[in-house]
Amino acid sequence: MDRILQFNVSLYSYTPQGAEQLYKQAEMIYYRLRLYQILKTKETLSVDELKSELGDNPLKHLLDVEDNAEVRLARHLDYLSHWTLKIAYSNQQPMFFMKCELRWFKTRFNNMSHDQRMEFIKKNNLNLTPATDTEKSNLKLWGQNWYKFNFTEVTLLVKLRLYPMYKGFIFIPEHKLVFWLTEKLQKQLQSSLVHCRKMLPSTCDQLNMLINTFELVQPYSDTTSRSFKLCDLKKNVEHFPLCMKFQYENLEKKHHLKHFSRVQYGLFLKGLGLSLEEALKMWKTEFTKKMSERCFQKEYSYFFKHQYGTVGSKIKYKAQCCDTILEQSVPSGFVHGCPFKHWDASVLSVRLREDDVCDEDVRKILGLKQREQYRAACTTYFQSVCGCKLDDVIDHPVKYYDKSCSSIVDIEDLVLSDED
Ligand code: SF4
Repeated sequence: MDRILQFNVSLYSYTPQGAEQLYKQAEMIYYRLRLYQILKTKETLSVDELKSELGDNPLKHLLDVEDNAEVRLARHLDYLSHWTLKIAYSNQQPMFFMKCELRWFKTRFNNMSHDQRMEFIKKNNLNLTPATDTEKSNLKLWGQNWYKFNFTEVTLLVKLRLYPMYKGFIFIPEHKLVFWLTEKLQKQLQSSLVHCRKMLPSTCDQLNMLINTFELVQPYSDTTSRSFKLCDLKKNVEHFPLCMKFQYENLEKKHHLKHFSRVQYGLFLKGLGLSLEEALKMWKTEFTKKMSERCFQKEYSYFFKHQYGTVGSKIKYKAQCCDTILEQSVPSGFVHGCPFKHWDASVLSVRLREDDVCDEDVRKILGLKQREQYRAACTTYFQSVCGCKLDDVIDHPVKYYDKSCSSIVDIEDLVLSDED
């Protein structure tokens, strides 16, 4: 434990040993939840701003550079409260927990001195490979220290294509090492959350009672109040499951979708929070590239208003789940349905390669398709394109979208923030 508590940041690799008095644990939970509340409400914060927001919260000492008794106490509090809340959040909103934790880690790591960062990496037995002089000169890597990583170690950074890549390696400057560590922490938290969820029923009654006395901080979005803007459609398509990406691409290309596609894609966008007004704008913009506005109003606008329950039977239709989509038959010439079930293996395999799914995952997905495990195939696709593990199987296109957005939210924070 002493080794773990040597730094202001931690990868929380080991379960804490020893017992804490209950009132102490309650205090720790309280302080960490206050931290989450701040991280939830303030999208960007400098170290000084975060410190001032934390006020009398002892966790603020982890943003100090010097080492003293208060800092060491804060490290202890941080470690234990992390584990207690991991157990609590493992059963509800694990993605929100992860988002807060990754941001907390990133802020502290970036606030550490060069020597502290290097010492932290060394003490955690993490291997850093510096770029050689030849690599530096060939790739024109000037200035500070550069390190090289295998693509698999920093998948999201590879996806963002911000730094030079060569023969399966990406080269990262020292001040961006946080990308590498955050990805490590993210993977660790994912498996640790699954483990915590499994052991939840066997955790001691006292701890369960304690957790239940606190109202956990929750993320904002829920299915009833979510909103999705048409202007964000293009940039968010990368988070769509393959069935919906295909609808989007067909609408863009052919400026028309047949009935079952309009049902599948229209309800999906409604499920994401696209308003009727914006939905009508989107369909009209595309359809009127091939037909008159009068024809669109006469033949199609009623359909979309009906879909949103504002005319006719006024039924509030929900986005279709995977089982509903999988049950449909898809005659030739139609594009609705689930690619993992309704496409030929050869067509699917070409598309998977276009989406940069590695050979091993392509084989796995085709095997799952053959065994009719379509949702598991979709889950493998998700894991391959998003670069993160899922602890359950995809069963709804909206769920796929939400999980995909959460998987990169921390990296977006890192890219947008330049405080380091
Ligand atoms: S499994 Fe569900 S989310 Fe995935 S492609 Fe098929 S229908 Fe879409």
